[in-house]
Amino acid sequence: MCGGYVGKKAGLCDTCLTTLPRTEQAVLRENMTETALADVKHLDRAAAFLFFEKDHPIQGLVHRMKYADQPMIAYQLGRQAAMEFQYADFFDSIDVIVPMPLHKNRLRERGYNQSEYIARGISDVTNIPVDTTHVERIKDTPKQALQEGKARQENVAGAFAVNHPEQMYHMHILVVDDLITTGETMKACLHAMQTIRGATFSVFALCKAR
Ligand SMILES: [Zn+2]
Repeated sequence: MCGGYVGKKAGLCDTCLTTLPRTEQAVLRENMTETALADVKHLDRAAAFLFFEKDHPIQGLVHRMKYADQPMIAYQLGRQAAMEFQYADFFDSIDVIVPMPLHKNRLRERGYNQSEYIARGISDVTNIPVDTTHVERIKDTPKQALQEGKARQENVAGAFAVNHPEQMYHMHILVVDDLITTGETMKACLHAMQTIRGATFSVFALCKAR
């Protein structure tokens, strides 16, 4: 983030890790991320690790993890967030971590799912398993960044499907995403996941746009 050399492995230096714009939402109930998802059924907790701000170095960071083939940034930040959120007991009753799925076309184009890397980072710290098989993105929606409001909402409606929901009945499922802006994509995903009977949902976002 500062442009300093961190060795062969992509990632942030200790100084940048320390100065990231943290939200403290792991210990704040009714925080901005929870409020964005307020009408979601069976939602337990929702929190973002960092604030996303345009023209802040965090913007470049998110861009690199998504589009510039640097998913290890996502993994590193997932680990860092997990180490800090553990102190707030954020993961205590979570059974499984589900990264926000990408459509197969997008996955093919990008080569990786950045949210899965975040999830793997969290999993390595918490030992909670990651599941990438049950929740699927079945509609290839246009790039969210280019849309606002109602168009965004309409585009993600029906974009997700859950395979074999019975295999996840009664679990507490943590859905992980890289960036929550309005929350419409996450809401659409959690709406599809309501077919998982008896499930409770929590949400972790690496970043939340203010
Ligand atoms: Zn740095």
